[in-house]
Amino acid sequence: MPTLEDLKRRLVAIDGHGYKAYQTLEGAYDFGPFTLYLDHAQSDPFAPPSRLRVRLSQKEAAFPSSLWQTPERRLGLEDFLTRACARACQEVARGHRGTGKSGLIAVQRAGQEILERTAVVVTPDYVEARLSVGLPAAGRRVLARQALAILTEEIPAIVERALRYRNLDAKALALHVDTAEDQAVLRRALDELGLVAFVADGAVLPRESGASDRPLKEGRVVPFRTPPELAVEIDLPHRGRVRGMGIPRGVTLIVGGGYHGKSTLLRAIERGVYNHIPGDGRELVVTVADAVKIRAEDGRSVAGVDISPFISDLPFGQDTRNFSTPNASGSTSQAANIVEALEVGTRLLLLDEDTSATNFMIRDARMQELIPKAGEPITPFIDRVRELYQRFGVSTILVVGGAGDYLDVADRVIRMQNYLPAEVTGRARAIAAARPSGRRPEPGRPLTRVTERIPLPESFALGAREKVKAKGTDTVLLGHEELDLANVEQLVDPAQANAIAAMLRYAVGRYVDGRRTLREVIAAVFGDCARDGLEVISPWRGQHPGELAMPRPYEVAAAINRLRRLKVRQLRRLADQDADGGGQDQR
Ligand code: ADP
Ligand code: MG
Repeated sequence: MPTLEDLKRRLVAIDGHGYKAYQTLEGAYDFGPFTLYLDHAQSDPFAPPSRLRVRLSQKEAAFPSSLWQTPERRLGLEDFLTRACARACQEVARGHRGTGKSGLIAVQRAGQEILERTAVVVTPDYVEARLSVGLPAAGRRVLARQALAILTEEIPAIVERALRYRNLDAKALALHVDTAEDQAVLRRALDELGLVAFVADGAVLPRESGASDRPLKEGRVVPFRTPPELAVEIDLPHRGRVRGMGIPRGVTLIVGGGYHGKSTLLRAIERGVYNHIPGDGRELVVTVADAVKIRAEDGRSVAGVDISPFISDLPFGQDTRNFSTPNASGSTSQAANIVEALEVGTRLLLLDEDTSATNFMIRDARMQELIPKAGEPITPFIDRVRELYQRFGVSTILVVGGAGDYLDVADRVIRMQNYLPAEVTGRARAIAAARPSGRRPEPGRPLTRVTERIPLPESFALGAREKVKAKGTDTVLLGHEELDLANVEQLVDPAQANAIAAMLRYAVGRYVDGRRTLREVIAAVFGDCARDGLEVISPWRGQHPGELAMPRPYEVAAAINRLRRLKVRQLRRLADQDADGGGQDQR
């Protein structure tokens, strides 16, 4: 393998040459304690930065095996090292060194969540960090001296600071790893306890602002305190015994006056599908992994979804058993969001009145009288929420401030007052009994299993030069189509959006075959990731796979479902044929 000295010599030899000369340096170099891989030299100073990896053997890095022995702890360690690398890059990189991105050294930036990421990997043999580097240029010419400083001084300094156990804060590292493991244990414990979510005493739920996911500063914060009726104690391997509010399966309402903290609690529960870093305030706010936030999203496109459980008999005889539109209304979009989440297997729906379509949620007694059921296509959620739980085991947590009719269908009611919860189920029952709402249930046809859909390969056709890539957390570009993910609220990290883009490309070549259902396609992709690691979805696997973080199947499905040119075929299984009169595709 060529050495550091060889790299220096080669660099000096191309000084002042055209920028593409950097590409002749691609390859691996023995840097003494570590190996440097230049996987890809950018073609232009303004192009996406070059991809470099640094690999340090475990003999040098010396992380105790207790930090990486189990997958959960390794994930915590990798996440910590990603953050340590990001900090080291900031401290060490001297920044601007010429045209374009010259001088940049960066690693994937991580937010409040601990996620499986491709930025740093730890194996029993080595620790490896994947860096983005702007190779320096004057105009479009190689600047060898500047490049030497980056490659032979700054990058080794980053390796020293961020990848050697002895140079890291061992206490902070252990806490990070232990916290990640505790959350995983806690999430598994939910199932055994019949809970869908847990919020620990002392948790800090409010965020700094609508634009910042960091915790609101102490002093102004009311830490969480469980109502005694819902108190649960759970033993964790590191924190020991923790106490908090356990939300059982079933239908749970969060009620209370405006500005008393209802949405904040629901949002923390939404994010509880992910693990959080120490100091976040939500480290012990944990939700079952397959919880899905549902909201109205008018304007989104819908392809071939059976929304008939909620909406039927639309004007002009539009078919809601196979419903497509480029421009859904509030209620049809919310219905589609629910059916699509069920299609991928959710067991917990999270809804907030603030972001729901009123007519989807409720039709009260007066409206029932004025508009007879025959003239109303919608079966409101209030008439389905119990059935979803009783027949399909799908629980709901719902924030309501206005629609008191929901007291009739709740298993429990939690009232938020001055940011603190109280259990008010008994009182809610008494009121519901004393003041009947007068509304008649309008259940419609009984719910059946969700009709699965087969995505057709042509929906994903791309021109030879067209790309699939993400922009922030709100947009994925599939060729010239911009997929709008702004309302997919549990997509939290830009690196997850990158992974969704990569998964789309990966799935289309392999699993979107016109036979597999959407659920099966997604299961196949996640199966590969579980077996071979997240980077299996990258065309750069084995090298620098880019800045990826693990999304959930729900967000991948959400992306595909929002594709405006999506074409699907509904899968009717044989057993459904008689009841539905056939006429649909089968395999
Ligand atoms: P609601 O949904 O009941 O109208 P929100 O959850 O939107 O209320 O909360 C209103 C405001 O109170 C927000 O600015 C939020 O950040 C703040 N807040 C929520 N919970 C707490 C808390 N525990 N301590 C301090 N401030 C909080
Ligand atoms: Mg609110």
